[in-house]
Amino acid sequence: MKIKKNNKSLLKSPKGSPRKKKNSNDVNLNKDVKQKGISKKKNKIRKNFKNKKTTNNEVTLHQTEKTQNKINESQVHNNINKNKIRELLKQKKKETSNPINNSETLRERIISQLRASRFRFLNDTLYNNDSSESRKMFKEDPSAFKAYHEGYQYQVEQWSLNPLDVIINAVKKMPKEYVIADFGCGEGRLADSVKQKVHSIDLVAVNDKIIACDMAHTPLLTNGINAVVFCLSLMGTNLVDYILEANRVLKMDGTLKIAEISSRFDDVNEFINLLMSYGFKNTWTDIDHKYFYFMDFKKVKNVDAKCKKLPAISLKPCVYKKR
Ligand code: SAH
Repeated sequence: MKIKKNNKSLLKSPKGSPRKKKNSNDVNLNKDVKQKGISKKKNKIRKNFKNKKTTNNEVTLHQTEKTQNKINESQVHNNINKNKIRELLKQKKKETSNPINNSETLRERIISQLRASRFRFLNDTLYNNDSSESRKMFKEDPSAFKAYHEGYQYQVEQWSLNPLDVIINAVKKMPKEYVIADFGCGEGRLADSVKQKVHSIDLVAVNDKIIACDMAHTPLLTNGINAVVFCLSLMGTNLVDYILEANRVLKMDGTLKIAEISSRFDDVNEFINLLMSYGFKNTWTDIDHKYFYFMDFKKVKNVDAKCKKLPAISLKPCVYKKR
């Protein structure tokens, strides 16, 4: 019987279909009609709760979307940065592989090689010709002198020592009232660096302090100079003419200072001895340096071209290597 009753109660289920009893509260709700309102309210609350849940879910979803958006934004940002870097790299690649830029460096290289070969040509001319020929060459093409000196300055920069600095230091120690003649002065830096009066002489005058002439025949007065300087300037096949001119312009006991590239000498002692025939006694030498020789002489005798049995003096031309 108990079983039947239980069955009846089961048949009286509000939805008319058997359902599993979830908990005792549900059974009580169905039995008590008064309780139905409460049940409705409860259902309403449940519904509201469900709705609230939905809204909460929506809020969470909204927040998730926001976070997602932020992540997306930063990813976009990252992508932009990456793309930017990629673009820059591409551009750099283009630049280096760009034939215009390549031709620019090629052009520069060709120009610098042409300049270097022009310098070597001018240098050869100066060493292997009589100075009258070199003077003619620079007169016909004044730009050649500038080109020569640009090339020369490039060479000087490669050296650990500029012989002109050694000469400048020595002249600085000479009495202030001394008169100096700088034979083959180039750009005239000696005159700009010392207190003494300096006559700067070169084949071409790059400024108005320089006398443009061949140092084989200068306009300087005889026996008026205290020191004559040849700093890497004994160029030309007629270098004895320069030595004779130095003898003419120098006072007796005056100083002759020579700085030359060591490789130009077959035998430096022979060169020193030969100078004695030209009225110059050797007073000091510095021939320990690898690339340059320095030597001082004192004028002990007046010697000119009319003097008999003057020996020939020659130095090898200085050849600069290809750049
Ligand atoms: N003494 C300078 C320049 C050395 S380059 C220095 O040490 O910086 C050699 C210079 O000698 C060149 O300027 C060249 O024009 C000059 N020179 C060569 N033969 C010359 C000559 N016969 N008369 C005048 N200058 C000469």
